Amino acid sequence: METTFRELAELCEKLESTTKRNLMVNLVSEFIKKLSVEEVEPAISMILGRPFPKWDQRTLEISWATISSIIRKLTSLDWKFFLESFNETGDVGEATRRVFEKSKMRRQSMLIEKPLTILEVRRNFEEIAEVSGVRSREKKERLLEALLGLATPLEAKYIVKILIGEMRTGFHEGLMELAVAKAFGIPHEIIQQATMMRGDIGEVAFIAKKEGREALLKLEFKIFHPIKPMLAQMTENVEKAIKEHGGKTAFEYKLDGARIQIHKSGNTVRIFSRRLTEVTESLPEIIELVRKEVRAKEAILEGEVIAVDEKGKPLPFQHLMRRFRRIRQIEDIKKAIPVKLYLFDALYIDGENLIGLPYIERRRKLADITGNIPLTKQIVTDNVDEAEAFFREAIEAGHEGLLAKKLDSPYTPGIRGKKWFKIKTSLEPLDLVIVAAEYGYGRRHAWLSDYYLAARDEETGEFLIVGKTFKGLTDKEIVEMTERLKKLTIRREARRVIVIPKIVVEVAYNEIQRSPKYKCGMALRFARITRIRDDKSPEEADTIQRLKEIYESQFKHKAKWKIEP
Ligand code: AMP
Repeated sequence: METTFRELAELCEKLESTTKRNLMVNLVSEFIKKLSVEEVEPAISMILGRPFPKWDQRTLEISWATISSIIRKLTSLDWKFFLESFNETGDVGEATRRVFEKSKMRRQSMLIEKPLTILEVRRNFEEIAEVSGVRSREKKERLLEALLGLATPLEAKYIVKILIGEMRTGFHEGLMELAVAKAFGIPHEIIQQATMMRGDIGEVAFIAKKEGREALLKLEFKIFHPIKPMLAQMTENVEKAIKEHGGKTAFEYKLDGARIQIHKSGNTVRIFSRRLTEVTESLPEIIELVRKEVRAKEAILEGEVIAVDEKGKPLPFQHLMRRFRRIRQIEDIKKAIPVKLYLFDALYIDGENLIGLPYIERRRKLADITGNIPLTKQIVTDNVDEAEAFFREAIEAGHEGLLAKKLDSPYTPGIRGKKWFKIKTSLEPLDLVIVAAEYGYGRRHAWLSDYYLAARDEETGEFLIVGKTFKGLTDKEIVEMTERLKKLTIRREARRVIVIPKIVVEVAYNEIQRSPKYKCGMALRFARITRIRDDKSPEEADTIQRLKEIYESQFKHKAKWKIEP
């Protein structure tokens, strides 16, 4: 018998009501144990707030405007009740549950329906994702209406949460790895390693259930199946990087562009962004270049694309992002915004998995096959003066700074460790999520130009406001942002709109202060938006825990100043 979606929703309710990690892991591992092979991946994806596994390129493409109109139609309730519930809970899913609960008409029809199962919900998501072409919006709407029409109030709560991608249970991927390890009695490291390789814990759990531990140990990369990128930690200067890396390290230019992962098999080349979404169609000239130059039948390579002017000088990041958004008129924009590729890593070449090899060897293997495609400029040194000169050179050439890569380090997918350091000139900006906005004054009265910025609380999954700013965007960007935020609006109160947390922006600031103004007790001073990060998802935004760390480290500096005037 198939597991019902109700059981999954009830599990999520339990997760929501506790912050005890052990308890959460136990609950989820008991739940996973009971699932059939086919149910494992869909259930895990849904518990993590995703309709499909992470590497899957299908999306539902349903806006909040559409979801809310369906809820209205199904419950035929005064929308004011939804807004009141939202005000009380701050949670779209919970507000949905309450309106479903209140709507009597719905409760009667429930008695005759048979319960929804996890697999049925997945099939419905698949159908919605497959709709394309003319009138696709209406078709998607009808499918979703049918699905929500079958849902109980509690089920509707979680369907809506999955649709908007915000679970708020505090149960994240790292805890899911623990739960899967526990459920199948497989050591955590093996699960972690396999997840690195496949980029998705749901798929790993499926393999564990179907084929067992041995199969996990033998897992290999799959071409066209993107891998989570290795990340870099911030450090203050080149000297620290050299020291941390044992006296000698490799420095590379840090290019201010977009990271891409290139998968090649014969003549087929596909490109994925750092969010693991496919961007092949946005970069036709890079595809051509790779086909022409790369001397390997099969390869998974990593690099950075930057926008350049006619002379090949780097242009600001914003220009590049336009390339990724405008898929339709790609030919025009290709001419207007030329891009250049620099490669910096190789994860797989012709049947050989390279991630366990030292960085310096991977780089050698990369250089062997890349033909005329340049690599990021690099030096290997133990000399602080030389490294500082290289840093200045990078900044003068229009780049962001340097990366320091430990010579003997393996490639660790998805991990932000000390093997890679990034070194930039100023205080590291934060990536924050817009959760509300206000209409401006005067010239800006018709635009949502003042933004509330939030960081994610790792413990609860909630987005907490840490600052507000109207600085940084151009008029054109504000107009575009207004349109995007309107589509995400949950509720309007006077001049302010509350929106679904979807849009990530990079924010520079001068200091983090203690402040009673916001729930988290901190506020950014002089926040200003430095760019729109469409290449990042809200999940990847900076966390409250990270802000606390920065706050503490500021404090350390200040204390030091007192001692050394
Ligand atoms: P972060 O994403 O904040 O961890 O910073 C590292 C980012 O810098 C990577 O994701 C790349 O997009 C970018 N980057 C620029 N140049 C390089 C390089 N030479 N090696 C690795 N990453 C680079």
